Amino acid sequence: METCDRPNLFIGGRWVPAGNEPPIDVINPATEEVIGRVPNGGPDHVNAAVSAARAAWESWADTPVEDRAKICERVGKAWDALIPEIAQLISREVGTPVVASETLQAPGPSIMFRHYAAIARSYPWTTDVNGSIVVREPIGVVGAITPWNYPLTLVSYKIPGALAAGCTVVLKPSEVAPLSAFVLAEQLQQAGLPDGVFNIVTGGPAAGERLVSHPEVDMVTFTGSTASGRHVAAAAAATVKRVHLELGGKSAAIFMPDTDLDEAVGAYLRQALMNNGQTCLAWSRLLVPADRHDEIVEALKVVVESAFAPGDPFGGAFVGPMASKVQQRRIQQFIRQGQHEGAVLVTGGADSPQGLETGFYLRPTIFANVSNDMTVAREEIFGPVICVLPYRDVDEAVAIANDSPYGLHGAVFSADADAAIALARRLRTGQVDINGFQFNVMAPFGGYKQSGNGKELGVEGFEAFLETKTIQHGVTT
Ligand code: NAD
Repeated sequence: METCDRPNLFIGGRWVPAGNEPPIDVINPATEEVIGRVPNGGPDHVNAAVSAARAAWESWADTPVEDRAKICERVGKAWDALIPEIAQLISREVGTPVVASETLQAPGPSIMFRHYAAIARSYPWTTDVNGSIVVREPIGVVGAITPWNYPLTLVSYKIPGALAAGCTVVLKPSEVAPLSAFVLAEQLQQAGLPDGVFNIVTGGPAAGERLVSHPEVDMVTFTGSTASGRHVAAAAAATVKRVHLELGGKSAAIFMPDTDLDEAVGAYLRQALMNNGQTCLAWSRLLVPADRHDEIVEALKVVVESAFAPGDPFGGAFVGPMASKVQQRRIQQFIRQGQHEGAVLVTGGADSPQGLETGFYLRPTIFANVSNDMTVAREEIFGPVICVLPYRDVDEAVAIANDSPYGLHGAVFSADADAAIALARRLRTGQVDINGFQFNVMAPFGGYKQSGNGKELGVEGFEAFLETKTIQHGVTT
């Protein structure tokens, strides 16, 4: 198959050669073959992109909302036709099963550009508060940094809102899965976006660090690991820019005592193993009543071994390879650590699955009788590894779920929806699903605690890109 080489960066509306630095290879994790190359951009490229974004800002911020919304809508509509091709591209760079790529990965711009066009149109840009005029304005130049697991979805959670709000953007996509971002740049250009409003610099952490520390960047919106998020927050502090962080998780699903296993086991596993277990909001801890622990573990084992065997992302498997060799090794180390600390290995393990020695494959792994102080229960493994933890009563389940440095997501399964919602309210986490995974891109999303700061999506996600100005004239109190 042909490689998808992207030798240029997108800066100021032009495709700019990246210089002599060797490019970054993009690897297909199912075959270990190079499928493309992108520039390894550095601080100078970031400087050029930020200058372009700054030069374009005033005019874009002054562009009528309706004109900005029309461009966004045009991109959303044009993207519909690209979904099958983009799904293939992302499956080749991330290893997401292609069926899942068609729904979870590729449609992002179709949905989100339309969504933010509608929000921008109906947004109350100016309000009167007791004689003060309260004006909402675009914050300025936005630096957007994204990870590899949902490379386009997460870009589309940021860029449409920023552009519709009137900001200009420099995007640094993940160096592991950067290819779809280039297609987005082409579409934005074709939709009539003025030069410099959107720019792409590919590269690794050094490019990201320059973007975060650049004094002409007004806001950073970052999605990635909590470890990187700490660096980003510290680097951004020097210029006191706004920082929006979407970070890691170690989310808990709670099976309440009345949970119907016939429904719950499959629903739980489809979320926990979604995108090969590499999802920030994966329910990687499963909390079960102690007196049903063995029964539930056995049900999980049967379903995992029969329906979730790893395989070719283009061959119908639900679980594909890990996205990179680094990622595979990291997960293997966690599995060994779990065994070393006494978690009971029910299925899976650290070895490569038989017949899948090429590619970064792992078997879905279940640990039983895990205690919440074990490394596998505390650290974000970011792979197909599930920890089953017993609890004695619902209060203890809440305490275990909340005993985590993270607070991104969670789930409650129960035959009693009201009881499940009451329990959801007690979880210190930004989102909770009842009886199975449901994602609403119109509702705010974002973590508590070390899972992040701020909200993406919905009106809150739009307001993240706005400043508020109060003009006083005739205040009456
Ligand atoms: P990562 O933190 O290694 O990298 C993310 C991005 O940040 C990449 O583009 C990388 O080049 C850049 N980067 C790394 N160090 C940087 C630094 N010091 N300064 C600036 N940029 C830097 O994360 P990853 O391995 O790509 O992605 C996996 C992580 O992302 C997991 O922890 C996962 O939970 C998290 N994630 C969170 C969400 C969410 O919405 N909360 C969504 C998806 C993924």
